[in-house]
Amino acid sequence: MSDEEGILMPGSFIGLLGGGQLARMLILAGHPLGFRFVVLDPDSEAPASQVGARHLAHSYTDKKALKELAEQCNLVTYEFENVDADSVEWLEKRVDLPQGSQLLRTAQHRLNEKKSIQNLGIGVTGFREVQTLPDLEKAFEEYGSVLLKTVSGGYDGKGQKRIRTEEEIRFAFEALHQEGIPLIAEEYQSFERELSVVVARSRFGEVRCFPVSENLHHQNILTICRIPARLSERVEKEANRIATSLAEGLGLVGVMGVEMFLLSDGDLLVNEIAPRPHNSGHFTLDACETSQFHQHLLAIAGWPLGPTELIKPTLMLNLIGEQQDKLLKNLKRLPFGAKLHLYGKKEIRPGRKMGHLNLSMENQSQLLETLKQLQVWDGEFLDRMLT
Ligand code: AMP
Repeated sequence: MSDEEGILMPGSFIGLLGGGQLARMLILAGHPLGFRFVVLDPDSEAPASQVGARHLAHSYTDKKALKELAEQCNLVTYEFENVDADSVEWLEKRVDLPQGSQLLRTAQHRLNEKKSIQNLGIGVTGFREVQTLPDLEKAFEEYGSVLLKTVSGGYDGKGQKRIRTEEEIRFAFEALHQEGIPLIAEEYQSFERELSVVVARSRFGEVRCFPVSENLHHQNILTICRIPARLSERVEKEANRIATSLAEGLGLVGVMGVEMFLLSDGDLLVNEIAPRPHNSGHFTLDACETSQFHQHLLAIAGWPLGPTELIKPTLMLNLIGEQQDKLLKNLKRLPFGAKLHLYGKKEIRPGRKMGHLNLSMENQSQLLETLKQLQVWDGEFLDRMLT
């Protein structure tokens, strides 16, 4: 249900490939706009199944289910980048799919991703394709310290091995190598900080960046975001310039997370892109006038984008694995004004993202003490982000 200019009207059905927390938060943001949702996710109890959407519990490659999705929806979007790109391409020919399959394919393949970013004149860490053990030996010789990654399928540090010494080369190669599937050896960066920008581009070409987030990872999983990030104005401008160039150069429609390393000389290198709402953009739910989920829907629906300014300095803390239960046992100690977002996941697994907490940083020293008393997050990480 679009008007003659291609703007999606309230009452329309939006199909979601993937029913995780990002789909759940998209649905919650879409209801006030009058949109209705159909989710395709094999897990009938996925987070998005609990918030008032139709659910198709079938695999992403099930043609019958894809056909049903195309028939039931006016527009389709995806919310995670490991969704089968062939299915997205198949759907794209049958229903309005503004994100397209091209950028998804690029983001799914670390080598192509790095080359596309480089082609736009944007810096990435040194990298080499690795097919054989001698390829990896050469990369180690060149970079000294290497992070070996599978080119596809990895997330949150899965499918990665750090190589610090010559002895570790063979072990890392054998652990990750699969016949016919290339690996990528990346130069290991001793960065100063990790940053990200969530950028939105509408189907009519309007671009807006959310404030830069400073990110702390633990065991490759995002743990805490601090907004505003501690940066010079020059670096902030450069981060926005990079995110905007990528959105325009790669033909983004929707929102995209752009992860970057800030080096000690002030240079920025892009680590990866994720053409969908991003964990480091969850602060926008409570700290900006428009959330990244709202913005994604505006962008794909062809509505004007919303303002992205930061209303208040905010800390976003992920609840990972058993951290959710620890917090729930201690709810009465939640800091005043804390905004808790839970994803409705029944099964707790190590490393699984269960929810997050957004906290205003107005009274920083008091906040640090209160958070430490909750005993949910590592005290040293809290010190690093709050002092
Ligand atoms: P990725 O799956 O590429 O997002 O990597 C997960 C995390 O591993 C990043 O957020 C960084 O903390 C770390 N990492 C990834 N690539 C590199 C690199 N080339 N050098 C140093 N750390 C890295």
